[in-house]
Amino acid sequence: MRKAFISPSKYVQGEDELLNLGFYIQSLGNSALIIGKTEDIDRVQDKLDKTAEKFKVKLHRAEFGGEATREEVDRLKKLAEEKGTDVIVGLGGGKALDTSKVVANGHNNIICPTIAAQDAPTSHSAVLYTSDHQFDDYAYFSKNPDVVLMDTTVIAQAPSRFLVAGMGDTLATYYEARATRQSNANVNAGLPNGYHTGATGPAKGTIAAMTLAKKSLEVILAKGYNAKIAADNNIVTPALEDIVEANTLLSGLGFESAGLAASHAIYNGLTVLDGPGNYYHGEQVAFTTFVQLVLENAPTSEIEELLTFSLSVGLPVSLADLDVKEVKYDEILEVAKKATIPEESIHSMPFEITVESVAQAIIAADAIGRDFKERKNTK
Ligand SMILES: [Zn+2]
Repeated sequence: MRKAFISPSKYVQGEDELLNLGFYIQSLGNSALIIGKTEDIDRVQDKLDKTAEKFKVKLHRAEFGGEATREEVDRLKKLAEEKGTDVIVGLGGGKALDTSKVVANGHNNIICPTIAAQDAPTSHSAVLYTSDHQFDDYAYFSKNPDVVLMDTTVIAQAPSRFLVAGMGDTLATYYEARATRQSNANVNAGLPNGYHTGATGPAKGTIAAMTLAKKSLEVILAKGYNAKIAADNNIVTPALEDIVEANTLLSGLGFESAGLAASHAIYNGLTVLDGPGNYYHGEQVAFTTFVQLVLENAPTSEIEELLTFSLSVGLPVSLADLDVKEVKYDEILEVAKKATIPEESIHSMPFEITVESVAQAIIAADAIGRDFKERKNTK
């Protein structure tokens, strides 16, 4: 059986770690294009100046327009050529990081998240959007980023809602990996590389990736609440450090090399409703993970463990929590239809998937979540 495991060349995490960015740039070249939103670069400009001076590298700011479009990628590619930079650095949140990956296209790429809100930083893929913010395409590269650098001081200073959203994204990782393993489905780590095909082919997950996925859930359940309190107070504690690692490294390697299943497909389906779009990826994924558990007939104890945790950190447990005012069966059927298109990861579940079974799981999960919350509130 063919198996694959992929990862960035280096993951480094620590307080004020951005002060070492120059060192990593220097290991790849002499200069870098820093792709980030103006406010995100401004937040860390002082550290960028210091590291550039210390390691004698040249940093060029490239203000990111805000959307990961093909036009934005072309504009930034030209800028990198004009400046003759050796390294592409992505700095900030998901879209700036993804854009930097597409600009770098598998070469000399350093990723510096300023929040830990989802698990994409370590991956060898990016999502492209159109200028009116609609999904365009996935892009895959010949390798993962060279360095993923997490400055925990910067991450702790961001609003805690980001860190909590990252925990929501991480909740999905183990359950999706478990389903993928049960069905012996393929994982992203074996996808064809870049824009060309044939370089590699389908592959199954490894024991290594499954172990990391399982650990990510354990860490979230054990340390998530304490980490949220640390983030509320903008301080770095051991619990916050553990959650930054779980949200980014454990979950990132876990989803990419151990597989996606129902949760992320139903998340994609939710885009047909109006309310959920007001919430972060990880906040929606927390709810769709719980839908996956209902769909796979998980025991009440497992479902309630997830709900108890979600309520403790303020993650959504129902559609009402995602601003869906009224649950209409016809609309939920549309969500389920989008979630079950042939390309979707939901078909990695170890049983047959129908539109109706997914719609009913969404409705049941919503009802269970509302009931659970009410019982907790009236206690
Ligand atoms: Zn995700």
